[in-house]
Amino acid sequence: MTKILEIKNLNISFKIEDELFRAVHNVNLSLEKGKVLGIVGESGCGKSVTAMSILRLLASNAVIESGEIIFNDKNLLNLSIKEMQQVRGSKIALIPQDPLTSLNPLYTIGDQLMETIKFHRGVSAKQAREIAIKALHDVKIPEVERRIDEYPHQFSGGMSQRVLIAMALCCNPEIIIADEPTTALDVTVQAQILDLIKELQKQRHTSLVFITHDLGVVAEFCDYVAVMYAGRIIEYADTRELFNNPLHPYTKGLFESLPAPGKEELKVIKGQPPSITESIPGCTFHPRCSYRMEVCDKDAPELVYKDGHMVSCYLY
Ligand code: SF4
Repeated sequence: MTKILEIKNLNISFKIEDELFRAVHNVNLSLEKGKVLGIVGESGCGKSVTAMSILRLLASNAVIESGEIIFNDKNLLNLSIKEMQQVRGSKIALIPQDPLTSLNPLYTIGDQLMETIKFHRGVSAKQAREIAIKALHDVKIPEVERRIDEYPHQFSGGMSQRVLIAMALCCNPEIIIADEPTTALDVTVQAQILDLIKELQKQRHTSLVFITHDLGVVAEFCDYVAVMYAGRIIEYADTRELFNNPLHPYTKGLFESLPAPGKEELKVIKGQPPSITESIPGCTFHPRCSYRMEVCDKDAPELVYKDGHMVSCYLY
């Protein structure tokens, strides 16, 4: 399999009142051509920060302290702002979390799509409109010829997310990063949007990085899964393998907390994930772990290979 993207030893911190706090610790990940990589974990675990670093769309107080993000033999972290603008949208596109705040309320849907298309594809306004109409058809927006001239407030959340998917796909990117693309939508619309993303990804063989906290979505969508906790990858495996045999106590806890037919009691993982400003020695999961051993609060375990997984836990 050809690797299309490789993240190597990535460390990202945030500057808060002149102090640096590490949010992403030594992350290594790769994405294969045409495959879907899921990054799963609770809010604040570093999954979105890792994904946004690929596009270099981080908050102004974020500091990429070290690492490489290799795409087409180039380290994206070394590109100039201008070079990065050529990558964003045309080679690597984003489907954001909240459609309602991601579209500009002052411009029509068509204007916003056409601006992207003209910038990246260098075509005339007439050609850009034709491409935009086709992209809106592809994401199954009804009455496209009329709706293309409407404003975002005239679209529902689900329809706005379809527009953003059209915007992500209209320049035929090699990679799409979907950052919890259904979190802000009604449950009834979520399944439709997921089905649409899945269908378009399969048709186009686009590589996808899918950020989610929902294991059900991972099961349906992803070829490989990285589980993140407190800024670290604590388990990585192919999806079937992870679901059949989760190894890390945190991953096991996530599965045990899922509802299932016939399950009488849902277990919860006690405690809360640490905040970015908290420094926890050893394994960062040890305050919540029921398998905790003496060694666990001394040194952080490394990711090791075990039964077709990568896992970071002293049990293995
Ligand atoms: Fe639990 Fe120790 Fe494994 Fe951490 S290293 S998950 S504390 S058993």
